[in-house]
Amino acid sequence: MTNDTTPEAPLAELRRRWAEITDIEAAMSLLGWDQETNMPPGGAAARGDVAATLAGIHHARMTDPALRDALEAAADVDGAEAEVRAAQRAVDQSVKIPAELAQALARQQSQALVSWQKARAADDFSLFRDDLAEIVRLTCEQADALAAGTDRSRYDALLDLYEPDAREADLAVLFDGLVAELAPLVQAVADSGVTVDESPAHGEFPQEAQLAFGRLVAGRMGFDFDAGRIDRAAHPFCSTITRGDVRLTWRWEDDDFRPALFGIMHEAGHGLYEQGLPADAARTPIGAAVSLGVHESQSRLWENLVGRSDAFWRWALPEFATTFDVTAPGHDALVRAVNVVRPSLIRVEADEVTYNLHIAARFGIERALVAGDVSVDDVPALWDDTYSELLGIRPTSAADGVLQDIHWSMGAIGYFPTYTIGNLLASQLFEAATDTAGGLDGAFATGDFTALRDWLRTNVHAQGRRLLPGDLIEAATGAPLGTDAFMRHVRGITADVYGVAA
Ligand code: ZN
Repeated sequence: MTNDTTPEAPLAELRRRWAEITDIEAAMSLLGWDQETNMPPGGAAARGDVAATLAGIHHARMTDPALRDALEAAADVDGAEAEVRAAQRAVDQSVKIPAELAQALARQQSQALVSWQKARAADDFSLFRDDLAEIVRLTCEQADALAAGTDRSRYDALLDLYEPDAREADLAVLFDGLVAELAPLVQAVADSGVTVDESPAHGEFPQEAQLAFGRLVAGRMGFDFDAGRIDRAAHPFCSTITRGDVRLTWRWEDDDFRPALFGIMHEAGHGLYEQGLPADAARTPIGAAVSLGVHESQSRLWENLVGRSDAFWRWALPEFATTFDVTAPGHDALVRAVNVVRPSLIRVEADEVTYNLHIAARFGIERALVAGDVSVDDVPALWDDTYSELLGIRPTSAADGVLQDIHWSMGAIGYFPTYTIGNLLASQLFEAATDTAGGLDGAFATGDFTALRDWLRTNVHAQGRRLLPGDLIEAATGAPLGTDAFMRHVRGITADVYGVAA
């Protein structure tokens, strides 16, 4: 320690330690990105060792008693409340979970990932059953360790890992409201007899042209390619090394431009958040994104509220025709083709109207599992029954049903609700931004997204972790998270495309 005696001095030690922790995370992140994009298969085993070593070093730094001392000393510094709170949360999570449990979870996750892949390929839940049961057992143990000494339920404790301070009971109210409104709306769409012609979305779309179009749109959104890049991968994702080095991935289909374009807009929305984090708080506890739900609101906002809008396509359609060297389809026909509503079995292919029903199904099943109300053996039948009830379709295979998502194999129970938080918040933020700017459509129609991006930058990105997610949402939109803005948005879609707004 120095003999600096200014009131901020105790903060310096916390920041010094946090900068190192952030750097270790950056190295882990870069290795993870490389594994998904460039690493030859022969590197897998050794890379696993490297990742485990770094994770061990990271855990040791997070649980170092000297870090706790630094936190304690910083607690009295004026104006450091948010920084101390954000660091304390992360430290508590590391300290509360015993090292043996963390190791057991990590081992079980690698094993369950393998058995999940086998089970999905063989369409046979029984191959995953034992590993899932063990994941649930260990995750409950982890939740109990995290919830000890708090008023949180087990499920609250798991939610809190992804969405700080979120509560199971509050989410249950949101999901009940959504299901009550969405189920009849989906039925009304089915009863409308309208079939959307999707041919404007089909054609021959060469890979290079799809990437060029995606890059054009991401650039207009404000994604800075001097502080980011985009590469091919099996799955689209956004990986942050630092705020000046944000990496997106993409995939494409030759005969349908939608997966590539909307995938890139989605990931670029995540990327804008990361590039917009407060520069003056880099490598500090508040220099990071606040929650997964808020993160997902950024991706869904650009993908859906912008990318599927009438105004966006006023600008994008001529660019589309030029990039792909085709005669542009009619504007209205194209907008309909990117707003198809159709109940489906697969979450990642779901449209905006049905998507949250997929999440409601998982939320209900997870809560029952964690509460011990159902056993792992009940899950496949419960899954199929829930789909019948919520979406009106029944999975015909485990691969397209209970085995479709990777999350549970990775121990990510309590993660799914962040997708719905993101969907709801995207609409709520978009309405707030539109109100402030006095309308955004005119600018969108000329390819100008500056007003929206600047609003998000000020109200969301540059906030980092200064506020808890619930407080950030209220500060940005003037209201707690709700379903109203989202329902107005999806009713707009069903009214325009299917002539129904039940
Ligand atoms: Zn996302």
